[in-house]
Amino acid sequence: MRAEATKPETGGLIDGAGVGKEIRARVANDVRTLVAKGTTPGLSVVLVGDDPASAAYVLSKGKACEEAGIRGDTTRMPASTKQAELLAVVDRLNADPAVHGILVQMPLPKQIDPDVVLRRIDPNKDVDGFHPVNVGRLLIGDPHAFAPCTPAGVMVLLRKYGVKTSGARVVVIGRSNIVGKPMAALLLQPGVDATVTVCHSRTRDLASHTREADIVIAAAGRPRMLTGDMIRPGAVVIDVGINRVDDASARRGYRLVGDVDFESARKVASLITPVPGGVGPMTIAMLLDNTVKAASRFAAAST
Ligand code: NAD
Repeated sequence: MRAEATKPETGGLIDGAGVGKEIRARVANDVRTLVAKGTTPGLSVVLVGDDPASAAYVLSKGKACEEAGIRGDTTRMPASTKQAELLAVVDRLNADPAVHGILVQMPLPKQIDPDVVLRRIDPNKDVDGFHPVNVGRLLIGDPHAFAPCTPAGVMVLLRKYGVKTSGARVVVIGRSNIVGKPMAALLLQPGVDATVTVCHSRTRDLASHTREADIVIAAAGRPRMLTGDMIRPGAVVIDVGINRVDDASARRGYRLVGDVDFESARKVASLITPVPGGVGPMTIAMLLDNTVKAASRFAAAST
């Protein structure tokens, strides 16, 4: 639902790449202010193993930090790393005053329990927002919560494009701890005031829910599952999905598609995020934003 629309127009694109760039420029400005006051924000990433997708994410996070003036460093550990060894690295980063944000790249090798590792990170350095303390803070509306970066990025896009959320019916597809659940928590906050339905793999007749929605947020990891006939005319469609599908004509033999069937959905939706260039670029921008928040709080607490 667009705040200013009187009749549904269709196919408006939400430019996440553009909004992400604006946020990164604002973050770079905040970093300059902090540096002038004596604090250089620092983000430490821990990468265990040699998963190529994880390595690529870590590389792009490092580059984004550098561009924003954030001191980024990566600790690389072999796939054979024992849980105790990784926890020792987390402890060291927790104790390091130059490190304001810590991110352990998922997935971790089988011998390591990701929950144990996430719980070990100091909640005040947990810029991914996955520590149970931050999950709880988010749920009760504590402003000190670090919201997970992807749903936080979706909220920024909705605000930026003047999408009215108060009283709006929003369907979130997916209930993961990383996207679906925190997305629902953010939409329920006073001031956002959406009426939220969370659908998942056991939901009966998904389309009966999505057809009622003013806003649909797809985060199921199922290529092109949300088609135009499942969307109410004039609805806003946010596609969080990033899926590889085989494509012999593509240079790498695959291409990335979302959870939304873009071609059919754009004919019905008033606004829609493309994949790539929609939600994806927001995730990294919000990671930088959370890191600067963590550094600002650290600086304020040390004065
Ligand atoms: P996940 O696999 O942890 O969770 C998927 C959720 O979708 C589950 O809760 C499941 O119940 C639900 N689901 C699966 N099939 C369904 C169906 N047919 N109908 C309804 N619900 C169904 O995935 P995730 O980590 O939440 O990620 C979801 C998608 O978002 C993936 O494609 C992932 O790559 C992408 N993602 C993108 C970003 C980004 O930066 N844009 C960040 C995180 C995840």
